[in-house]
Amino acid sequence: MIIQKIGIIGAGQMGNGIAHVMALAGYDVVLNDVSQEALDSAIVAIEKNLTRQVSKEKITSDAMSTAMARITSTLTLADVGKTDLVIEAATEREAVKQAIFDELLPHLQPHTILTSNTSSISITRLASRTDRPERFMGFHFMNPVPVMQLVELIRGIATDQDTYAACHAVVERLGKTAASAEDFPAFIVNRILMPMINEAVYTLYEGVGSVQSIDLSMKLGANHPMGPLELADFIGLDTCLAIMNVLHDGLADTKYRPCPLLTKYVEAGWLGRKTQRGFYDYRGETPVPTR
Ligand code: NAD
Repeated sequence: MIIQKIGIIGAGQMGNGIAHVMALAGYDVVLNDVSQEALDSAIVAIEKNLTRQVSKEKITSDAMSTAMARITSTLTLADVGKTDLVIEAATEREAVKQAIFDELLPHLQPHTILTSNTSSISITRLASRTDRPERFMGFHFMNPVPVMQLVELIRGIATDQDTYAACHAVVERLGKTAASAEDFPAFIVNRILMPMINEAVYTLYEGVGSVQSIDLSMKLGANHPMGPLELADFIGLDTCLAIMNVLHDGLADTKYRPCPLLTKYVEAGWLGRKTQRGFYDYRGETPVPTR
């Protein structure tokens, strides 16, 4: 199957990163969001990130302008239907993703492969409510997309081999590496990473350490490039909480109980870098711990 045109739904931090790498690899990209502001910021972010790659001499300025010209943005979901591969990268809430698929299905071409960049939601369940469970799978990029090498590919129970092979070929064309994961809550990376982040929040909640000492400990003591709380802010605290809830509900084990302090930050709208405040306050020149 030839994939040339790719639809991306959701132009947040993941959607804009996916659009960036796809356009750079030569795919035509249709980027959709419900918010014009999100689409505008995505185009600005892609331009800024490509410019950084040009200045580091990783790509040429010709490659940058060709990539920018390959991206179109639209508020109309139906425009995404005329593509060969759709990657849904909207907010991590099952009801949101479900509503998107319901609205999109009548506009899809029969051959189009439908995928989700979900960090945790059951691929099999999302697929079962579409008209093409055999052409549906998980296409899970890591953040930031232009930098991170891994893509988790997740087969639902009905995903066929041609669909898997077509998505695997896209990952190869991007110059990235695919890891195959089974469809269980949060797959591989987040099954391991999120309980660690949640435990870091418990460590803060119980007063074992401050934001600064927890991050410092894991950076210098475990050689992690970022501390767990810094990383949580980077991922988005709403996304972290949503993933913990999926692990808790899906595996029915109290060891995945989301920390009440994580819930409190999300209730406050302190979602991390994207809202300028989370475990750190990013409104000044240097991040300041909020606890
Ligand atoms: P984000 O909050 O930055 O962006 C979500 C975007 O979806 C927003 O621009 C929002 O306007 C848009 N949106 C909401 N409803 C929509 C709809 N009905 N139609 C079209 N667009 C809609 O979130 P994000 O971090 O980019 O995460 C997006 C997806 O990627 C989630 O499923 C998340 O689990 C997954 N993911 C996130 C990370 C991460 O580190 N943040 C990593 C891998 C995967």
